Amino acid sequence: MPVKILVINCGSSSIKYQLFDMPEEKIIAKGMIEKIGEESSSFIQTSIKGRIELQRQIASHEEGLNFIIEMLIDGKEGVISTVEDIFAVGHRVVHGGEGFTKSVLITHEVIAGIEECADLAPLHNPPNLVGIKASKMFLPHSAQVAVFDTAFHQTIPPRAYFYAVPAELYEKHKIRRYGFHGTSHRYVAYRLASILKKDKRELNIISCHLGNGCSVTAIEKGESVDTSMGFTPLEGLVMGTRSGDIDLAIIFYLINKGYSVESLNNLLNKKSGLLGLSGISNDMRNLMAARDKGNARAKLAIDIFCYRLRKYIGAYMAVLGKTDAIIFTGGIGENNAAIRKESLSGMESLGIEIDDEKNAKATRGVEGEITSEASKIKAYVIPTDEELSIALDTYEIACKQHKNQA
Ligand code: AMP
Repeated sequence: MPVKILVINCGSSSIKYQLFDMPEEKIIAKGMIEKIGEESSSFIQTSIKGRIELQRQIASHEEGLNFIIEMLIDGKEGVISTVEDIFAVGHRVVHGGEGFTKSVLITHEVIAGIEECADLAPLHNPPNLVGIKASKMFLPHSAQVAVFDTAFHQTIPPRAYFYAVPAELYEKHKIRRYGFHGTSHRYVAYRLASILKKDKRELNIISCHLGNGCSVTAIEKGESVDTSMGFTPLEGLVMGTRSGDIDLAIIFYLINKGYSVESLNNLLNKKSGLLGLSGISNDMRNLMAARDKGNARAKLAIDIFCYRLRKYIGAYMAVLGKTDAIIFTGGIGENNAAIRKESLSGMESLGIEIDDEKNAKATRGVEGEITSEASKIKAYVIPTDEELSIALDTYEIACKQHKNQA
């Protein structure tokens, strides 16, 4: 059934959106509003009608969503004639706790469930909820679907999701590994199965999402069995501005030296990682350029980034027993051949051998294998598409509901 699906991603001061023609998976319009609540907010939309860019004050997410809908149906710039053309809306929701193991149709109970998880993701779930409530208000005829970043990781077994702290912390405060980037890991893993014409249950995959945030996931027979991000996205790999794994005693030591909890939170989430190590930038492109010019701190930051990733890949090979494929995705994973090569270097005896020519060719949205004929474990670049993944789930769930109601 051909329909239009709107995908919405509400951040703390932004709304990103894409309108899809489904099941063709065609983007009709996409855009974003940034700096919501500030004196001047920016709006950008690109569509078959062209590109619009404007500045105006948008005080709240409700106002922002209302403006987006107005622009989508605008006589001159719009791409649809009435709001009723929007069959369903897919919402990215960061934290689904333990209650949400897959994407769901949004009901009052689902809203209450997302509210309950707000404590676990205080910066993300509240704006996600505002987007859901505004969307229900402005588009009451559309089915509303929630797609959770954490849901794919709910198959992780207790031995991988428990931390070795008193068990009451789990019971009282829900302290455990949740994992994030689930929509991306699931999308690229299933996409690879489809490219290889295999059932997802036939493959064991290590998926590396390397963007400004980075995580790696062990996927056994189509299910996440371990992932590097934990209770929050701070754990695991070195990221743009996050430290990833550190000895927690560093925090107590620094508190004794006079650092406040708030300043440490900021330091580990916003000032660490590639930015903190290099003192130059959180952007891998800038670090590559600095390393080429002989900057020693940029070189060290890149070395640590690749070393940490290699360590996790090795650990997940042990977790999976037999690994069929490694996937690289995200801004760095999709575009940076040098990082892919350095992360997999020295693993020939483990059955991984990069083909330099193939590796160099896989860039800027190109899907492809990057390992040699002889390589026992194959590595691939698969560009991620979280919005499409949300649109696919929303389409499936909304069509099912439509059928049930008919
Ligand atoms: P993301 O969060 O997925 O947008 O990824 C952001 C990261 O991807 C930054 O570190 C960028 O430096 C990196 N990135 C994006 N495009 C490229 C590129 N063409 N070459 C190398 N790194 C890139």
